[in-house]
Amino acid sequence: MTARIIDGKALAAQVRQQVASDVAQLRGVGRPVRLTAVLVGKSPAACVYARNQALACREVGVEYSLRELPVTVTQDELDRLLRELAADRSVTGIMLHLPLPEHLHTQQAQYAIDVIKDVEGVNPSNIGHVVYGYSIIAPCTALAVLALVESTAVSLRGAEVTLVGASRIAGKPTALLLTERGATVTLCHIHTRDLAAHTQRAEILIVAAGKAGLIDRRHVRPGAVVIDVGINRIDTTDANGKTVRKTVGDVDFDSVVPLASWITPVPGGVGPMTLAMLLRNTVRAARLVYGLEQPFGKIPGPVSESRRELRIP
Ligand code: NAD
Repeated sequence: MTARIIDGKALAAQVRQQVASDVAQLRGVGRPVRLTAVLVGKSPAACVYARNQALACREVGVEYSLRELPVTVTQDELDRLLRELAADRSVTGIMLHLPLPEHLHTQQAQYAIDVIKDVEGVNPSNIGHVVYGYSIIAPCTALAVLALVESTAVSLRGAEVTLVGASRIAGKPTALLLTERGATVTLCHIHTRDLAAHTQRAEILIVAAGKAGLIDRRHVRPGAVVIDVGINRIDTTDANGKTVRKTVGDVDFDSVVPLASWITPVPGGVGPMTLAMLLRNTVRAARLVYGLEQPFGKIPGPVSESRRELRIP
């Protein structure tokens, strides 16, 4: 068996197309979608991310603005700005770039993001709502993983799922969303004894640990769906013996591909889909702000409409 590739870029393009149409429709009735991002300091990685995000927003018609704060900003000043944005009726979506400088408390700042404008789904209330099986706005990475799994048409109901990585923003909310879809989820982390015993059982294996090469063929059950959330920058040698930087996931892709039924590549898998889910959440936030959608409802079938059209090679 050779795994079929889950094309995160193609699936994300379908979501972005839907978002662009939703944004145009809202603009047409005088309800613009406006996202304000807050960036503290000027770390090169965050600046690149902010630039790419601005571009992605413009492509789908979302009006994007960036509020830059100096690296010396105090917690009070940051929280105050986030509250001002919450109260500003011309802003329909808010996000805060991470990481913050060490003197700032991330969770406290995220708590100051208006729950219905929180396009990343990182306010502790939004993460917590996933427990109830419904959401105001769910975390983007968890939504992306769900969308990618569902794009394979492999049923989640009753499926054995193992998740490696139990962070608050990736692993845990993903585990809850999948449980909500009827999967039996095992959540592994750094203290898990005998990781392979858990991963080998998985019909669907999701890895979000941030450790390049953590999972190889010895960990994978033949026929499993493998979703690689990890993003790691490693040094490798090119054909000319030169050292080059490369982005890889947590899964040793080449060793797992002959064994799995479906697999996400890195790059080109979860990453683009997470950004697409951010854009979709941005539309959801605008609809909530304008009173066109209700805060509580079922967590959406991520790409339910577009799934029918998706053709994965
Ligand atoms: P984190 O450091 O907050 O959490 C890592 C989790 O993995 C922890 O629960 C830890 O216990 C577990 N872990 C670490 N080493 C392990 C090991 N050897 N065995 C078992 N469990 C282990 O990280 P995070 O923020 O959740 O991110 C994880 C990875 O996912 C990173 O590479 C990050 O860049 C990536 N990420 C990607 C996206 C995306 O859109 N593609 C989004 C979020 C995070």
